Amino acid sequence: MEVISSTQEMQQKALALKRHGRTISCVPTMGFLHEGHLSLIRAARTSADILVVTIFVNPAQFGPTEDLSSYPRDLKHDLAICEKEGVDVVFTPGTADIYPEGYSTYIEETDLSKGLCGATRPGHFRGVTTVVAKLFNIVQPDSAFFGRKDYQQLCVIKKMVKDLNIPIRIIGCPIVREDDGLAMSSRNKNLNPDERKEALCLRRALLRAEELVGAGEKDAAVIRESMVNIIEKEPSARIDYIEIRDGETLELVDRVEEGTLIALAVFIGKTRLIDNILI
Ligand code: AMP
Repeated sequence: MEVISSTQEMQQKALALKRHGRTISCVPTMGFLHEGHLSLIRAARTSADILVVTIFVNPAQFGPTEDLSSYPRDLKHDLAICEKEGVDVVFTPGTADIYPEGYSTYIEETDLSKGLCGATRPGHFRGVTTVVAKLFNIVQPDSAFFGRKDYQQLCVIKKMVKDLNIPIRIIGCPIVREDDGLAMSSRNKNLNPDERKEALCLRRALLRAEELVGAGEKDAAVIRESMVNIIEKEPSARIDYIEIRDGETLELVDRVEEGTLIALAVFIGKTRLIDNILI
């Protein structure tokens, strides 16, 4: 396994591989790898000749009051995991490699990025699309793998690739959960034991929503209210949003039907967690 931190070296390697007819798959991550990331790595492993995992905690997608400095990192452990999973190249640029002094070009998707996380994290998706477009140019993948845990992110990236005619296949992968149902996330590491228990309210709220839908309830307001009640029972929980939207257009809907997205973001203490289900 090769570990490359220079953007130039990574791009030259990728272009040389392409010239020799090799296909490349890419899994972009912010590191502190867990089973959720591994599911993407395993799916990507079988889809191309060369698998590149990128590890970069992207400052451009964090707001000024967000958790960039406390975002968990453990590069040594991440590299050991990648080695074990048969990753060919790990690309680990530094901030100055990606955003050198004087950097001034950004990519912005202006429709799907507006609501949900885009509304409560202004500038977040501009940071995401910019870094992902840059990683695509550097790594030159034929396919790239993203988790549905970040459902809106997946939609925004698919839209960017379509709108900008980027010749890369974007593949969405299912949410991987802990045994008790909590969606895996690098940020779970920042939960103390009490918060870890309270964090299960996200999953409980989604399961309750699913149960109501299963019992025939279609009114989005009723379903949302039942979720609010579950979250508000937890002393450390603060709702960032609970929203019910069309799973494709991401527009708000009044009625829940097949293809409806139920998504939520909740602060448990200082840690912001997200989760969702697609009906
Ligand atoms: P991150 O390192 O959090 O930026 O995530 C990198 C990629 O892993 C993104 O495409 C995420 O959607 C995906 N991912 C993170 N957590 C999970 C999970 N629990 N299940 C599936 N994919 C995930």
